Amino acid sequence: MTSKIRTGIVYDDRFLLHETGMHPEKKERLKSIMGFLEQKGALEKLELIEPRKARVEEIEYAHTKNYIEEIESYCAKGYNAIDMDTMICSASYEVALLSAGGAITAVDKVMSGELDHVFSFGRPPGHHAEPNRGMGFCLFNNVAIAAYHAMKEYNLERILIIDWDVHHGNGTQVMFYHDPRVLFFSTHQSPAYPGTGSFNEVGAGKGEGYTVNVPLPPGSGDADYEYIFQEFLRPLCDQFKPQLILVSSGHDAHENDPLAGMALSSQAYGMMAKMVKEIAEKYCDGKIVLVLEGGYNLNALAEAVFNVLDTLAGWGMSSPEKKEGVLLRQNSKNAVEMQTEKLKEFWPDL
Ligand SMILES: [Zn+2]
Repeated sequence: MTSKIRTGIVYDDRFLLHETGMHPEKKERLKSIMGFLEQKGALEKLELIEPRKARVEEIEYAHTKNYIEEIESYCAKGYNAIDMDTMICSASYEVALLSAGGAITAVDKVMSGELDHVFSFGRPPGHHAEPNRGMGFCLFNNVAIAAYHAMKEYNLERILIIDWDVHHGNGTQVMFYHDPRVLFFSTHQSPAYPGTGSFNEVGAGKGEGYTVNVPLPPGSGDADYEYIFQEFLRPLCDQFKPQLILVSSGHDAHENDPLAGMALSSQAYGMMAKMVKEIAEKYCDGKIVLVLEGGYNLNALAEAVFNVLDTLAGWGMSSPEKKEGVLLRQNSKNAVEMQTEKLKEFWPDL
């Protein structure tokens, strides 16, 4: 008996047209993911969704008109970078519209009830992009645009964004810093690029308490993330009660990632997905949208993405547990304690 497919991926060969040369954020990342899913026999068990391009008005939810026009004109003029590490090519503007559109399409599929979980493999990634500047390999902030779309089109008032990329999602944080409709929760290596995301950044004005940062020292691994998700994210969600969960799904906290120094195993991504799935089932009919951010070891990236999809779809091909024998570090307990202290006035049941 075949059960109904409830999990999808957004993919389009045009995502490969954003050429970055000898750069870690390269098209081979997506080829590796898609190749691995095929090899595992997973593609036929997933709904394959074609993205549409985001309209400029939709990009404007998150970015200034001026900045959007700047990117368009840099691409038209054939520039090959917008800063030291953010590459572009002549096609990048259109591909970035498609990448943002992929996140929007994913929200529509989940909000319409057609699917429970959709992972958009759009690139360029987005979480570093701020309202008026791109940076850190990112042009348009896909996850933020998806959140705005969900608020505008579906009148949602409580969206949780989990950013488990190893880098802090500075762009996403800035966009919702004053906005209590979006709870932004980020685990990231510290110190590391881009340097933001300290405990003290908790939001401001009406958004105070709705930005939650858990900076972690290099070397943090499965047991640390398990502890943080279990002991901190879960009680936070019991109070916030999200209506939709978006995940900035970077896989560069993996132990084999060349750009960062964390120690997550591939199966840890299944473990985190399992906890997020439980939260989603409790509060929002299981609705989860993931958008791809970082992850630069091609094999680790593919394995980690597969484990996330496996856990969400319930195929049972991988183990959604922490790797055996990995110990919880005192640092992580301290991080949770400090953040709890800081946020207790907003979330008394922490
Ligand atoms: Zn990253």
